[in-house]
Amino acid sequence: MLIPKNMAAVVYRGADDLRLETLPVPRIASSDLLVKVAACGVCPTDIKKIHYGTVPPPRVFGHETAGIIVKVGALVRGFSVGERVALHHHVPCLKCHFCRHKAFAQCAGYKRTGITAGFEPAGGGYAEYVRVMPFVLPGVVKIPARNTFAEGAMLEPVNTVLKAVQRLALLRGDSVLVAGQGPIGLLFTKILSLQGFKVAATDLLEPRLKLSLQWGATRAFNAGSPALLDDIRSAFPRLDAAVIAVPSDAAVLGALELVRGSGQILLFAHTMKGIESKVDLSRICLEEKDLIGSYSADYTLQKEVARLVFSRRLDTRALITHVFPLAQTPAAVSLAAHPTPESLKILVRHDSRRGAESAEKDNFF
Ligand SMILES: [Zn+2]
Ligand SMILES: [Zn+2]
Repeated sequence: MLIPKNMAAVVYRGADDLRLETLPVPRIASSDLLVKVAACGVCPTDIKKIHYGTVPPPRVFGHETAGIIVKVGALVRGFSVGERVALHHHVPCLKCHFCRHKAFAQCAGYKRTGITAGFEPAGGGYAEYVRVMPFVLPGVVKIPARNTFAEGAMLEPVNTVLKAVQRLALLRGDSVLVAGQGPIGLLFTKILSLQGFKVAATDLLEPRLKLSLQWGATRAFNAGSPALLDDIRSAFPRLDAAVIAVPSDAAVLGALELVRGSGQILLFAHTMKGIESKVDLSRICLEEKDLIGSYSADYTLQKEVARLVFSRRLDTRALITHVFPLAQTPAAVSLAAHPTPESLKILVRHDSRRGAESAEKDNFF
């Protein structure tokens, strides 16, 4: 495959400063892959880093990446040029103290980002080509012929949701509150309902509440209603767990009231450090409620995630409402940061207009 010398990349140059630049196509070592990016999801964790400037520039973000292998290092086995793949930028070592406790996201190896388009590795999906380093090769998943790049790019977010669901100690017939019906909340609603649980969905936006019912929620409640807690309580008198998929402290406090004694509240969206909240700790001690968190993906669930997404039992295509060409990544990030009632998952695609790329285009959705 013909690989150009330079490529387009959207570079983070500081807080809220993304610029379309020309970078050299990454050079790969003998144990790496070079992947031509076809699609990359816009993820809230990247949005926060970009908006608040929490990491030093320059970097190329984007980690929900799918594309085509265009070059295979001489020492790499099991991959060939032309294969369509989904990438994971973090892979745990599976051997350290954290990994033995299945706390993969806390593993020092896991925290190293293994995919880059240049500069300090940060995912690189907002560029035309990425270098995939040897320690994340076990995370590369081949995309079946009938599936699309967009579906490949959805593996990582789906994995994070399935991992979080597995932290809940649920029994058959249990009910779960899912606070927030954005793309992640809807994935929770769907996966919990596929597993046979009853879901109480809340959101402030009516279109999202309607959608949550299509995605498997038993009942949907407007989070802005003054009678919210009473309404949920009368429909779900014994709520076993709550997933907080929106960075709202009010949602956490409401959930702490609503879940039954010894139930669980799982924080999924509270990723900003340094913000404190008041909690009545007797809820934890006397009422034995667990406040737990979940962050990032679980590498050992990857096969299950791929089966779920590629079989379309969980059809992620319905979640993607906007696709932006690479050059418009700043607009994609800004829409994801300020969602409209209708916007859900936002993707960036590599928009090549060369004839040879037409099959790749057809395969997008
Ligand atoms: Zn992500
Ligand atoms: Zn480890």
